[in-house]
Amino acid sequence: MINRRQLIQRLSAFPFLGGLMATPSTISAGVAKAPKRDLFKELGVRTFINAAGTLTYMTGSLMHEEVLDTINNAAKEFCMLDELQDKVGEKIASLVHSEAAVVTSGAFSGMTLGLAGILTGMDEKKVKALPHLEYTGMKSEVICQASHDIVYNQALTNTGCKIVRVETAEDVAKAVNERTALMHFLHIESDKGKIQHEEWVALGKTHGIPTSIDIAADVPPVSNLWRFNDMGFDFVVISGGKAIRGPQSAGLLMGKKDIIAAARLSMPPRGFNIGRGMKINKEEILGMYVALEKYINQDHDKEWKEWETRIALIKNAVSTIQGITTEIKIPPLGNHTPTLHVSWDTDKIKITDKQLREALRNGNPSIELGGGTANSVSVTAFMLKPGQEKIVATRLKEALSMVR
Ligand SMILES: *Cc1c(COP(=O)(O)O)cnc(C)c1O
Repeated sequence: MINRRQLIQRLSAFPFLGGLMATPSTISAGVAKAPKRDLFKELGVRTFINAAGTLTYMTGSLMHEEVLDTINNAAKEFCMLDELQDKVGEKIASLVHSEAAVVTSGAFSGMTLGLAGILTGMDEKKVKALPHLEYTGMKSEVICQASHDIVYNQALTNTGCKIVRVETAEDVAKAVNERTALMHFLHIESDKGKIQHEEWVALGKTHGIPTSIDIAADVPPVSNLWRFNDMGFDFVVISGGKAIRGPQSAGLLMGKKDIIAAARLSMPPRGFNIGRGMKINKEEILGMYVALEKYINQDHDKEWKEWETRIALIKNAVSTIQGITTEIKIPPLGNHTPTLHVSWDTDKIKITDKQLREALRNGNPSIELGGGTANSVSVTAFMLKPGQEKIVATRLKEALSMVR
């Protein structure tokens, strides 16, 4: 097995892509215009082709031109923050079939604020008291299926509530008491729990407890935007900066009128409350709205076919290599996009997933691959710019062929 340094040396000896990469300055050569500042270059921050997916640490997704224009134009005028949230909220609510909606600083803050709204109602004293629930008359427990109790539930415990784990409908009946504020559901883990969506909502109704659902990364399909509002969840949260391609710092809290109105008491411009640090500005609010509208109205079948074509191209490039196995999977619940899994026989191809990942990261242009196991990686195409699939295909093939 060659070591990491040798590998990187070998791979970086391939400058084949340099010639393909016309930079904006070479295109506009001859036009007397001051070059735009490239802050990534200036600061030495690596940019890359994203074949991994919509990951927070890789800055989520890229916004469409319409969204960027919206942000730019919004930045040139003042308006009242609440009036903007009122008007945008009404439009978004009608797009997603909810009674009301508000743009939040991500799905995570949507969870905190939605629960805060349920805990406080319109009582300003309670708003101020959060996250201290004792002696306030506020409820303090959230029921959740054990398999749904993942790290993001910190958003719920940030209100001062604790999570009570259940598995069955009988467990729910036993867990409900006068302190129960909410029954929370996590769509992406719904195949791991015993209770499905409809039953969860029905149980909430039976016990008189509001229900919520986290669908942060769960479009496509686009219908998920309204499916859970239609189903009767009292509030639903989704990320703006994943597949919807809104601002990364934005998300939506959709749901019942009284919950959204109460949630907004814990949001800027009001202070001081647990949501004061979850500020969302007019640019993000409008950017989120336009991104959502565009997302809903786009041709989803066409986009899906484009993803399939790109993934097929990458698959075909690498599957001819001896020792390689490829498989295309579509995660059913979240990050629902064709995902290519490339694995290899380590007797024939002497490289670890970590070395391969690093080789592509250190090449030019830099490429980030998705996670896998010790001898596999994954590739998605939904965050690629048109044409980048060719670069990913060539580089992946080259890297895997070179270490035989
Ligand atoms: C990404 C994610 C979140 C957090 O969403 P933000 O919009 O980044 O706040 C919450 N829950 C799940 C399941 C997620 O995937």
